[in-house]
Amino acid sequence: MEYEQHLPPDQGTNRSAWVIPPDARADQRPRSTIRVLPPAAVARIAAGEIIERPASVVKELAENALDAGARTVRVDVRGGGLTLIRVGDDGTGIRADELRLACERHATSKLASDDLGSVRTLGFRGEALPSIAAVAELAIVSAADDSGVGRRLTLRDGHVVVDEPAPRPRGTTVTVRHLFANVPARLAASGRAQAEIAQIGQTVRRLALAAPGVRFSLLIDERMVLQTTGANDLETALIEVYGPALVGNVLSLGPLEPGGARVAGVVSSPEVTRLGRGQVNIIINGRWVQPRGLLALIEAAYRPVLPRGRHPVLALVIEVLPGSVDINVHPSKLEVQLLEERSIGAACGELIRAAIGQRPVILRERLSTGLAALRSPIALAEAPAEYNEDSVIVTPGLPPLRLIGQVRSRLLMLEGPAGVYLVDQHRAHERILYERLLSTHDGPAPEPIALPEPLLLELRPAQVARFSRRMDDLAALGFECEVFGGRAFLLRAAPVLPGVMHGGMLQGLGEPNELIPALLGLAEDDREGAGWRERLLISLACRTAVRRGRPLERPEMRALVEGLGQTSAPAVCPHGSPLLMHVSETLLEREFGWG
Ligand code: ADP
Ligand code: MG
Repeated sequence: MEYEQHLPPDQGTNRSAWVIPPDARADQRPRSTIRVLPPAAVARIAAGEIIERPASVVKELAENALDAGARTVRVDVRGGGLTLIRVGDDGTGIRADELRLACERHATSKLASDDLGSVRTLGFRGEALPSIAAVAELAIVSAADDSGVGRRLTLRDGHVVVDEPAPRPRGTTVTVRHLFANVPARLAASGRAQAEIAQIGQTVRRLALAAPGVRFSLLIDERMVLQTTGANDLETALIEVYGPALVGNVLSLGPLEPGGARVAGVVSSPEVTRLGRGQVNIIINGRWVQPRGLLALIEAAYRPVLPRGRHPVLALVIEVLPGSVDINVHPSKLEVQLLEERSIGAACGELIRAAIGQRPVILRERLSTGLAALRSPIALAEAPAEYNEDSVIVTPGLPPLRLIGQVRSRLLMLEGPAGVYLVDQHRAHERILYERLLSTHDGPAPEPIALPEPLLLELRPAQVARFSRRMDDLAALGFECEVFGGRAFLLRAAPVLPGVMHGGMLQGLGEPNELIPALLGLAEDDREGAGWRERLLISLACRTAVRRGRPLERPEMRALVEGLGQTSAPAVCPHGSPLLMHVSETLLEREFGWG
């Protein structure tokens, strides 16, 4: 098949400062300096099997194209990648006299100084081409200038069988045929074509997000399944990659500069969520990566504002100095080690929480006409001048609401501009408490409130060590505990909490007796990592929130609705369960036939 020449797209002027311009990558490598790495450099590189499945071939070849400063990358796949994979680019190309060298083991143009710490390219091991040539037939056509003539090299079983001049505009096309035909075990291990194609699609989508200034196209069995415009705008790329459902539903994040890093990105608004983490993308220095610790911090930030089990569509672009990220910890280069992980993670979390939390989430119940009703312009001028038990409750997060009363000792019923609202009293209180606890945990150390009487915690022997280890952290959260001899501890003070709170509207509301069981739960929690704080806050909020089945006075109900409207996500509890239901005017009209 003839190489298809693409004109470089207009790069425009809105190139984001946080995205490495594709040509900057090429600039970093002096042309025509492929060399075989000295053994000492090879030894320091995390080696491993690179070519595990067809998607690995696509990844390696497309990364080479990006490293070569391509503006256009076209990927063709047939037979799930086993029949053919072809990646064409308009990058710098490989000089004719270096083409054979490029296919040798540990031959690379990207590691000039043996200094792994300063690598900015996606590749640097010099292993992809030889590894592919070992398990498939490999043909490269490349030209490094505009003479119109390049060179073609074909390797079978790792040996050169064709080496001849070939017409070619500047750039490179690599064609891989009969992948794994000589490795029966891996051929058998490859999944069905459909599964491989899904993997390939994911690979290309991730690269397209990491390089939004590059035009990608992916053709599966000659059908175009993905195309990006290379507009160098992350929001555009996100929509091109994940589909038009995102139009109008993308919020931008940052930029923010925590501790020498730059963080920016885009995230779907809370109504657009996904069941898995498959569309959560982290890009560090132009590389799509899966930094486990960072992902955990980010998830902890959005978890409490999204419905249970749901994840956002996200592309987070992080730029750090090359020395503060180690990309050489794993052969796949997906795991990376980030020096400032905690502060960067906290900043990312903050960005996401602020963006998603801005908009109340309304649940997927069928009765609601959706978010539109909740977001309808709120006439703030109608706020009552003086307090009156029955006056409208005006808050930033909810429409103006008039309290009707309590239903079945568990639901608050309210009337708003566009219908009737039902609020689960327990979950609403849970959300309020959770956010108050969180603010003590996120902000400066809270002023602990001394309990009227200290509470006694008696632990089992197995729990003592675990609990003692976390006492300092608890103190930082406002819980002052002290050893009371043996396996007993005293809780003397707590941060803002129901029932033990001095001042504040929700005083006396809730289940303060549940404080101790919640703390005991902490002594049972032996999972490692920072997640225990989040789990403790959720558990404290859940246990101490007012129960369903408890009759409430009107001022208590008002206080709940007022508190709820101040939270960042007044429609889901911290576990992600719905707490607010809207029975819209439209629905009432339709159901009653008032037309
Ligand atoms: P690495 O990318 O780790 O350097 P590879 O085996 O993938 O190793 O490629 C070897 C070398 O071949 C690269 O360093 C580069 O100089 C050259 N090369 C490979 N693909 C391309 C391409 N599409 N455009 C330009 N040069 C390429
Ligand atoms: Mg490479």
